Amino acid sequence: MTSSSKQVHNFSAGPSILAASAFEKSIQDIQNFAGTGLSVLEVSHRGKEFQAVMDQAHALVKELLGLNDEWDVLFLQGGASTQFYQIPMNFLRTKAAYLNTGVWAKKSLAEAKAYGSVDVVASSADSNFNHIPAVYSVPSDADYFHCTSNNTIYGTQMHSFIDSPVPMICDMSSDIFSRPVDISKFSMIYAGAQKNMGPAGVTLVAIRKSMYEQVADRHVPTMLRYSVHAENGSMFNTPPVFPILVSKYNLEWVKEMGGLEAMAQRNQAKADLLYSAIDASPVFKGTAELDSRSQMNVCFVPQEENPELEARFMAACKEAGISGIKGHRSVGGFRASLYNALPIESVQALVQVIQSFS
Ligand SMILES: *Cc1c(COP(=O)(O)O)cnc(C)c1O
Repeated sequence: MTSSSKQVHNFSAGPSILAASAFEKSIQDIQNFAGTGLSVLEVSHRGKEFQAVMDQAHALVKELLGLNDEWDVLFLQGGASTQFYQIPMNFLRTKAAYLNTGVWAKKSLAEAKAYGSVDVVASSADSNFNHIPAVYSVPSDADYFHCTSNNTIYGTQMHSFIDSPVPMICDMSSDIFSRPVDISKFSMIYAGAQKNMGPAGVTLVAIRKSMYEQVADRHVPTMLRYSVHAENGSMFNTPPVFPILVSKYNLEWVKEMGGLEAMAQRNQAKADLLYSAIDASPVFKGTAELDSRSQMNVCFVPQEENPELEARFMAACKEAGISGIKGHRSVGGFRASLYNALPIESVQALVQVIQSFS
């Protein structure tokens, strides 16, 4: 969103673009929330007005992801990074299996090592994480299997999920709500909000109630017990009211647009357009292997290392109102993040700049 007259195309990897309607409605609620005459930022989270927001946010997540009554939806704090240790603290009794597909996966398995043994079932580290390992097996005596559905930094994405012999837990921070997923395969999914759900400050956890019976025999602080947050409807302590409010409005937009099927089509069209332009370019190339390419984060670099070209491309992007395109330092080059709210017009603007470099 921008208040200046020139349109800004926001390709930021996170915090990232959200639906304009989510901002407009949230601004109203900052000024006068649900007819209270007060700001949403200065009323009790236990009042009926905010309780309604919380209930609607929980319900929207359940509806969009197709979660039945076997599932709890929790809004927590601490980002996806807190989940990296909260998961093993709760569920790692002796051994856990991890798929190592990038920086975030590596961080999550590093935290797990403090709680038990970690079996890395496959890794693409040797090729700078440019693909998702295709063949691996998960040991049936692991307490759980952890994977990362979309590798934000490397622009790779899992396009299928195994039938895991043990509970499968997935970090979906950067592709949650971007496409339908077969939720029956998972026991828990989680996401920091700020990539594709809402603003930073809230973390979404969807967890099967059956997981509470698998908690390890160690002291887990009250704040870090999933069941405590479930029993309290995500209000064990003061929840991050504003990020939850904005997320609710952003998810309402997802629903109005047709839900996850519609998001998947929209995201596919954007990704196809951009990858075709990169593949046709005589100067740029994609960094991810074809069958692992992400629809959310598109990484590309000059075909030959060329700092002068990179600088010129950055300047041309800036001139065209394109923001947030610089690649992560682990990959270099450029990264265009195509989250749900990004319109195809923004991709068209980027494609024009790419095509002008030939
Ligand atoms: C951004 C990101 C994280 C870290 O999220 P925080 O909420 O900042 O802790 C973890 N995993 C993935 C896949 C991410 O993209």
